[in-house]
Amino acid sequence: MFINGQWIQTKATFAVINPATGNTIARVADGGIEETRLAIAAAENAYSSWSATTAYERSAYLYRAHQIMLQEKQALAEMMTMEQGKPLKAATTEVQYGADFLLWFAEEAKRIYGETIPSSRSNQRFLVQRQPVGIVGAITPWNYPVSMITRKIAPALAAGCTVILKPAEATPLCAIALFKIFEKAGIPTGVVNLVTAADPVPVGHELCTNQSIRKITFTGSTRVGRLLATEAAPQLKRVSMELGGHAPFIVFADANPVHAAKGAALVKFLNTGQACICPNRIYVHRRILTPFLETLSERITAMQAGNGLKKGITIGPLVNQTALDKVANQVEDARAKGAELLVGGRRILKQGLENGFFYAPTLLSEVTPEMLIYREETFGPAAAVIPFDDNDDIIGMANDTDYGLAAYIYTNDINRAIRTFEQLKFGMVGINDINPTSAAAPFGGIKQSGLGREGARAGLEEYLDTKLAGIALS
Ligand code: ADP
Repeated sequence: MFINGQWIQTKATFAVINPATGNTIARVADGGIEETRLAIAAAENAYSSWSATTAYERSAYLYRAHQIMLQEKQALAEMMTMEQGKPLKAATTEVQYGADFLLWFAEEAKRIYGETIPSSRSNQRFLVQRQPVGIVGAITPWNYPVSMITRKIAPALAAGCTVILKPAEATPLCAIALFKIFEKAGIPTGVVNLVTAADPVPVGHELCTNQSIRKITFTGSTRVGRLLATEAAPQLKRVSMELGGHAPFIVFADANPVHAAKGAALVKFLNTGQACICPNRIYVHRRILTPFLETLSERITAMQAGNGLKKGITIGPLVNQTALDKVANQVEDARAKGAELLVGGRRILKQGLENGFFYAPTLLSEVTPEMLIYREETFGPAAAVIPFDDNDDIIGMANDTDYGLAAYIYTNDINRAIRTFEQLKFGMVGINDINPTSAAAPFGGIKQSGLGREGARAGLEEYLDTKLAGIALS
């Protein structure tokens, strides 16, 4: 753990498992309430001086961290593959994406502008300033173990906040590596603090209920997000929540089915399907169903599952046994209720992979609303195709979910694209595009997919309060 500028070990430790091999690769400090309180005290001590630095000073620290992160890109990516499982190329892309947030918010730090507002009284002036919200408690997931940290810490630091981070118990090593970078960048003592823990509950509870914390930022499941928001509610703490999704992927009859299928193969199997923006319902117009399924089957069949450190591997393991069981259960349920299994549909137990959590990339068609996969987030490598005939029904079907994170549409008709974009109740819509994410673009959901935005200018707003001065002139 990294508390008040010191690396701290505890007697109790917990194991970090490589999900491709099932082997323990490290043991890390197991923190609890006591360490969380120490970290909060450190962040509190550091707050008055950090929040008083100029934006130019804070920006310089973030630039430095960005530079060091890029120098250490390869090592960070290798560690991520070992700890989280994604293939090395995908891990390298994530490190770059993670570094992008440091750069973006290094720049945005200098643009925390205020406002002057005309008053109806001739002797009055309104002056609006932005101030940091205070001390931030951040909780991050294992699926993007580097970028989800910088996406929170970079804007928090840019705004002038100090931070306590609790990373996911499956991926503490990536967090430790990032904090070594923050340390090398010279970020002052107590400004960033790291508490690793095998049991997230006491740490999460302390962050949500401690009076010193003014803001909770969380990325993870809707279930846990709801719990944390509830815990933070009595003190009316600010919260940002990036939660689950159940993305529709709509391919209209006028779309190019081959282009759409290539896109679906990429975004559905991103991170072995373990991303909140992965499509969960792929609606394809029946007129182009055959060429769509042909291309998607080809792409899925060509995927190479294995240890992501090996060349040519495109699909890594799932994070653990529970994740594996969830996918297997959804696939079996769909088959039992009449779905057609076109590719995959089983755990991979071939030699060398039998101790890892590998599930074969899977394609199901003729999926219907009665099936679990149609409602529950899969978070695994199973693509569910739902043929449709009538364009008039499709928006209602796509919106028929409690989630509202990402959606995708494929069409060559500009009118349909814009109308559908406007009618979809989702925070991000890819139009003939599968990657609506960037440090410069606001990421986030509506409905039960979350509150607030990350990245972009909006990502900085989450860490700022608005302060008004009403001035009477004599
Ligand atoms: P996933 O289902 O993707 O693992 P979770 O929401 O369980 O997502 O985990 C995301 C993050 O939330 C992790 O850092 C995890 O340790 C943390 N977490 C899980 N349960 C709790 C809890 N009850 N209180 C605080 N943090 C939690």
